[in-house]
Amino acid sequence: MSPNAQPDIRPFVTCVKRLAGRGAEAGGSLRSVPLEDLDLLRPVGSTAGNCDELAIALRFRGSREFWHAALAVHAYLARDCQAVCEAAGQLRQQPNQPTGATGAEPPRVAQLHQEQLRIAGALGVLAKTCFNLKAVASPDTADGSRVLALLRGDALQVYSAVLKALTRSVAPVPELCDEARLISTLLLFVVWAADISVARMRAGDVSVAVEWALAMAASRVLEHACCAVLHLQGGVAIARAACAPSAEARLKLQLEVECTDQLVLCDVLGQLCKVIQVAADMQAAAVALGSDATACGGGSSSSPAGAAAAPASAGPAGCGADQRQRCSVQLLPSLRSVLCGRSLNYWVVKGLLDAGNAAVECSNQFSGRLLEATELREKATGAMVSEQLQQAIEQRGAGLPARWLGLPEQHRTLKSDFERAGDTQGEAGVSSALPLGPLLVGVMREGRLMVRLSDMYFQLVMAARQLWQAINASPGAGEAGSSTSNAAGRSAATSRAAARSPFTAAQVCAAMCHGLESIGGMGMAMQELVGSPLGYRAEMGAAVQMLCGLAKQLRARQAVRLLGTLWTCAAVLLSIVPASAARGDLSAAVLEQSVAPALEAMGSLLLHTYAGENKIKLSGRVGGCCTSLTAASYARGIYQLRSCLRDTLRPPSGGRAAAERQGQLRVALTDRFLRRSCALPALLTFGKPDETGGLLVALRQAMFVPAVTAAGAGPSGSRAPPPPAGGDVQNQMVLLGVQLLEQVAAACLQAPPSRRRPAAKGASARGGSASPVDDDVAARLTDTAKCDVPAERLQRLWAAAEPKGAAAAAEAARDTGSRMAVYAVLQLLPAVVHSGLAGALSKAHKDFTVGLSRVFLAVALRALEVVQRTARQRAAGAVPAGASARGRTVEEIFAHAAVDSWMLLLVDQAGVYQWLAAALGVSTAQCWPEGHAAALDVVEVLTLVVPAEELAMWVRLWSGGAEAQPPPGAPASPHAPVIQLGEAWLAQHGRGKLVAALKDKGCYVPAEAGGRASGPARDDGAGVASLRLDVVMKHRLPALPPLVCPIDAVRGLDVEHNFRPCSHPGCTRVPASPGIVPEVASELPTMRCGRCRVESYCGAECQRAHWRAGHKEECPRLAQMRTDLESASVMMHFGFLRV
Ligand SMILES: [Zn+2]
Ligand SMILES: [Zn+2]
Repeated sequence: MSPNAQPDIRPFVTCVKRLAGRGAEAGGSLRSVPLEDLDLLRPVGSTAGNCDELAIALRFRGSREFWHAALAVHAYLARDCQAVCEAAGQLRQQPNQPTGATGAEPPRVAQLHQEQLRIAGALGVLAKTCFNLKAVASPDTADGSRVLALLRGDALQVYSAVLKALTRSVAPVPELCDEARLISTLLLFVVWAADISVARMRAGDVSVAVEWALAMAASRVLEHACCAVLHLQGGVAIARAACAPSAEARLKLQLEVECTDQLVLCDVLGQLCKVIQVAADMQAAAVALGSDATACGGGSSSSPAGAAAAPASAGPAGCGADQRQRCSVQLLPSLRSVLCGRSLNYWVVKGLLDAGNAAVECSNQFSGRLLEATELREKATGAMVSEQLQQAIEQRGAGLPARWLGLPEQHRTLKSDFERAGDTQGEAGVSSALPLGPLLVGVMREGRLMVRLSDMYFQLVMAARQLWQAINASPGAGEAGSSTSNAAGRSAATSRAAARSPFTAAQVCAAMCHGLESIGGMGMAMQELVGSPLGYRAEMGAAVQMLCGLAKQLRARQAVRLLGTLWTCAAVLLSIVPASAARGDLSAAVLEQSVAPALEAMGSLLLHTYAGENKIKLSGRVGGCCTSLTAASYARGIYQLRSCLRDTLRPPSGGRAAAERQGQLRVALTDRFLRRSCALPALLTFGKPDETGGLLVALRQAMFVPAVTAAGAGPSGSRAPPPPAGGDVQNQMVLLGVQLLEQVAAACLQAPPSRRRPAAKGASARGGSASPVDDDVAARLTDTAKCDVPAERLQRLWAAAEPKGAAAAAEAARDTGSRMAVYAVLQLLPAVVHSGLAGALSKAHKDFTVGLSRVFLAVALRALEVVQRTARQRAAGAVPAGASARGRTVEEIFAHAAVDSWMLLLVDQAGVYQWLAAALGVSTAQCWPEGHAAALDVVEVLTLVVPAEELAMWVRLWSGGAEAQPPPGAPASPHAPVIQLGEAWLAQHGRGKLVAALKDKGCYVPAEAGGRASGPARDDGAGVASLRLDVVMKHRLPALPPLVCPIDAVRGLDVEHNFRPCSHPGCTRVPASPGIVPEVASELPTMRCGRCRVESYCGAECQRAHWRAGHKEECPRLAQMRTDLESASVMMHFGFLRV
């Protein structure tokens, strides 16, 4: 820029230098300097913009002598300030002096106060000019040495003394205001030093940070600052209480108090939060440094490949491993003692409570005004405001009383304390843009206050979260403590500081819930009213994550009270994220660092159980469902999850990056929330059928949404970071679908894991109904290697989906669970198979191949179970053998329809033969014995279920054939069997019985037969019987839970719950309204297929597409099944036994 634009620093420099000289002359004090001279500093930087410019100029052009002088002036002023404050405090403490809010102070105290004001003003100018953070874009060594000089001048000790002096007495209200300003100024210096320290640390220079942390710990300045702020707030509250009677006095005081509290709460709050965050940052950096050092020092064993390169690269980085470790060891204990202060904790939690309460209060007022404003708008424009909005507002107003959550009266801060005087300025602009009269202006004002409140609130949440994380992370704190024994002793005691904090988890949880809910709800309402989109904020994720962590510490009774609100907050988050993603204003980093952890925390809360929770009555609890899941369902958390997933399927408005983000969000939802929590089986059992059904449909749709090609053929995609592991969103979704299906199959379709001997301590645990979980199975299902699922959750996978309690309720839940589990398989299995076979997964992914084979096995076993059950009944003489020749029994009709229904799903919809061929092929190509084993298990079951002539069309057993692949020269007829197995190969894999059974079934091709199958095709040979016995034992068929057949599941949902989504698997149409406003339970309006009356479609397009895609063949079969089942149940109802 031109030299003219640069501010002239000379007057300021001269002034500082002269003051430094006079201070030195007076023996290190500026108190003798006339006030006018001290004021010389002031005019130079009268406005904030000037100060910033001057600060930047000083940083680069200020000479060494100038900085020397500035630091000296700072030191003189700080000491003077200390002396003045201490003197004033002592004077006020003397019993003969009148104190308190009544004013009339003796002249000496007033004089001291005047002096303090001047000093504070001068310090403020220094802070804004020489020690201004805005001027320090990239700190260099010079800044580091300035911080060191400041610290070595014992600045922090002096600040501490000042702050301590402020807490010793209660000043009258007007002076509280000045004290707040002083605290804020002192904190500015601390933040400046902290920021530079962290920045220097990142650049490899630890010395500044070490000195800062040591000084902070020794002076305990943060703790004193919190005490002082609390003291101020207390003083305001006392004054407020003292003048209660007179309205006029209250008004007068209100003005003064407001002025004070604005400063305290807006500026000091911001700066305290900043210090906490910087200290937490520093701790994280120190921990990283320590682990780096360990890795470098003794790293040869841990990283054999990088060992050669590591020392060479670590060497020139500035300091050796030893030194780094020493620094880290020096840093950690002092940082701990900085962050573990009792007042600090108290202050943060009180801040949360205050802000949360104020948000609720504000929200209540705001709703009232908003309602008035919407009415006014209706009158003015004739436009109808949506009814739902109005309802939502009314509910909000009625449902959220301003509760003060256990904070003693004198410690409360009111909503008005968060307002700022400047807030009225922007109103002219608003009112001209929206000609809705003064009422709306009032609404906007309230709304702006909400925005400010939410800002502070989120800032506090972040501070609280970092604080607790810092407190709970204690690497090396124990062993390093010997040097500073005091801090070490305290650190051990404060390792459970969250528990020891003056507020209970329930209080903090409640404040956060109410605050978040109000902020979220108001944001939505504002969006409705003025149409400005509500963006997702990273702090929201942090808040929800922290909430979920806190909620686990609650006691059962508190949980029952609070979880509903908590899930409402979570639902707010779920409703905002997809819209942000679709607009493209959600960055990949935010998604990864904020949304995904929040989703995981919510999921992990879903199945959390509280001791003794079942004894508490809870409205909406279904058949022994755990409290958390009940609350989630009741507060529409599951509904929102469904809507959120579905909203990610809408066409994005923000272009390519937005589409990519939507895909990532889809994966995050499915993976973090559903898969890792293992909650899907429990949701199927206990959720509302139409909600979980909708979730399943959305999941199925998600597998068909074409992924954005991440590599980016166009230049616009090249800048985007590569999506996480695996790349293709659709592939990830399909893989997740397999894992979810595995969970459903394990919990609902298969026999529960074999009971083990009850452990000694398990004997005392309540209820023996929960079967102990097979560790291997559970570990595979939840994929412990990749995520951090707690062990107790594995134990609860089966137990959670198992209804308990009153017989009738449990029975109903069990019915729902079985129906929904079948529905889940019906929705997901065909989609997963088709998407998987089309993509790259089926050719390379072992988990996919093995997992899907296991799902197929579970489904095939259900068909076998029906067959076996009828055979058993017949053998037991329930059916006279002769009767079957002429007519069929009701049981037989049921069984026949059920088997047909399962086979329709297996063979026609999911394509089991094609799948098995692909799975066997890829297992051979990749040498996966597990793949072979899993696929052959399915073949065994199919051999038992499928009639001989049909099986022979699909499966062929070659004589000899030591290899799995078909021998060369196999005939290629249109009906060529897709599954080709070698006799010797099967024998090698221990499937001798399968060979015998296949020979019985006429699938055998002898060597001399020239490719044609020969031999008798029978369903009742000795080989088949032997295999049957084997399979029944191996898969514990009698232990299978009862289950409806697929067509029953579809019909049941349709008839009983009016849930009829479009049956076309490729249908990706989603309901038009975004998930913010509650909508009616039904999805898209659908019409049933006129012939079978089983499938339903959203329109003629889908019906035509599905007809061509295979419904043409299925329709008559479905119609037959339906009439069979219906007539059989009618007969059963009227007592007929035979047809
Ligand atoms: Zn459709
Ligand atoms: Zn049909």
